[in-house]
Parts: sequence; C-alpha cells; structure tokens
Amino acid sequence: MNSDYTQIIENAYKFVKPIKDHGKLATYIPELANVNPDKFGVHITKIDGNNFGIGDHLEKFSIQSIAKVLSLSLAVKFLGERIWTRIDVEPSGTKFDSLLLLETYKGIPRNPFINSGAIVICDILITHLENAREEFLEFVRDLSDIPDLNYSDDIADSEKATGYRNVALCNFIKSLDNIKNDPAEVLDFYFDMCSLEMNCEQVSRSFSFLANGGRKLSDGKRIITSSQAKRINALMLTCGFYDESGEFAFKVGLPGKSGVGGGIVALYPNNFTIAVWSPKLNPNGNSFKGMKLLETVTTHSEMSIF
Ligand code: GLN
Repeated sequence: MNSDYTQIIENAYKFVKPIKDHGKLATYIPELANVNPDKFGVHITKIDGNNFGIGDHLEKFSIQSIAKVLSLSLAVKFLGERIWTRIDVEPSGTKFDSLLLLETYKGIPRNPFINSGAIVICDILITHLENAREEFLEFVRDLSDIPDLNYSDDIADSEKATGYRNVALCNFIKSLDNIKNDPAEVLDFYFDMCSLEMNCEQVSRSFSFLANGGRKLSDGKRIITSSQAKRINALMLTCGFYDESGEFAFKVGLPGKSGVGGGIVALYPNNFTIAVWSPKLNPNGNSFKGMKLLETVTTHSEMSIF
C-alpha cells in the first residue's frame, strides 16, 4: 500500500467536502433529524498501529446498521456454522427494510445485514445470553477498548416509537417460525443495538479485528476465528450496502458496512480499517459523501482489495 496514505485521505477529504450533495438525513427516525447535516469526518487505523483522522472524526454519531456486523460477530461465537440455517448469505437486491423476500424464502432472511436478518440475529442472541442488551454492550466495550461506550436512549426511544416497519418485519418472521422469542423483546434489543454511538476513530479501531484475522489489534485477544472473520468480510463485500452492494464493490472495492446515521466502515484485510461519517444519505440509505470519499481514496491509490 502507498506509504503516503495520510496524504491520499487528506486530499480525498478536501476534494469531497465542498461537493454539493443532494442527500437527505434519515428523518424516519425522528431523533436523527436533529443531527447537523454538514458533519464530515474520516479516520483510518492501520494494522501496523499507525492511524490518521481528519474533519469531525472525533465526534460521536449513531452507528445504526454498522452495529449489525458486531452482533453477527457475537452470534457466530455461539452458533458457529449452525447460524446459517437461520439466515442466508446472499445479497438481497432490495432495500434494507424490505419484507419482499421473506415470504419467498419462508422467513429465512437473505443475509444478516438487512433489517430482517439483523432481527433474527437479535433473536439468536436473546436465546443464548442471559441479558442480551448488557452482554452485547460488554462484548463491544471489550473489542473496542471503550469502557464507557453506550446505547443512546434518545435514539433508541425515538426508533421504538416509530419503527412500524421493523415491527412488521419481526412479526412476519415470527409467523414464519424463525423468531423464537417474544417479538417485543427482540425488537427492543434490536433498536438498542442500532443506537450505539461511536466516533470515526472508535469505529475504525473497533472493526480492526476483522482486518486482523479475528484478533484485537491492541492486545491480540481472539474475538472470532480467522475463518469467521473471512466469512463476515465476504458478507460485507456482497451485502453491506443493501441494493447498492454491487455498486460499492465496483466503485470502492472494499468490504464495508453502512448505517442510516451516515457512517460507513470499510476494511482491507491485513492492512487497514477506515470509518467515514457524513449524515446525508443517498436514495439507497447510504452516506452520499461517505461513499464518494471512499471511492476517491481507492481510485487514486492502491488501497482497494482489487
Ligand atoms: N435502525 C435502523 C432501522 O432499523 C437501521 C437501518 C440502517 O442503518 N440501514 O431502520
């Protein structure tokens, strides 16, 4: 990889910042409408320990669906390969909150990164943990080395009050027998999980275990096996951006995951993890400037896996 990665990122940041984007905040979660739409930050954590950030990279945001990668990581620890009987590994080609394919595939979500799939993962965690809300938080605090990391009650409550679509998804899957616990309990945990708050520096550091064969960078502690890390990275590449996953692979060329809070995390195995945040979303629910920045970085460097 190019050694002047800091220059590449700084140049991309300065190039993308003034671009007029026509994206919109995710106002369907009312609390997210209060975020300053002009925030923009990026942070890269390299496997060799170097790191670099610019812009609003130290300001916390709602990581939303980025957390689905972490809940999947915890769930594979419990179920191992059996997890794939509850959930598939195929791109959906549909919006993140779509109900469409659930009937066709008898309640088996296409992948763990669309809402239906992440809701089933929450159900699995509730089955295997005494207190999923607390134990998931502990898991993320440990892998991120952020002892005061927390859920945002304001964001979670806001989504709990308006998340009719997720309520429909969870009940529909329950009717097809792929939710084993009380749907209200599963949804409660799902909304809490999505409300986790981190900044770009913390996201890029937290996800570095996936670029490091399943081990934490800070102390080498094993979080998941290298084979599990390989699979999760493959899923990020094929399913991390909903019906824009192909385009992200095409334009950026890295495994990644987005959230409607405007965050994106992407990584290059054995090399680096990068997190970017800009709250305005394109029509597919992915950060407009976040995608643009990553595309610019990988187009003008050798920082893509391809
Ligand atoms: N909490 C959001 C939802 O369930 C997460 C969606 C996302 O980030 N794409 O709608």
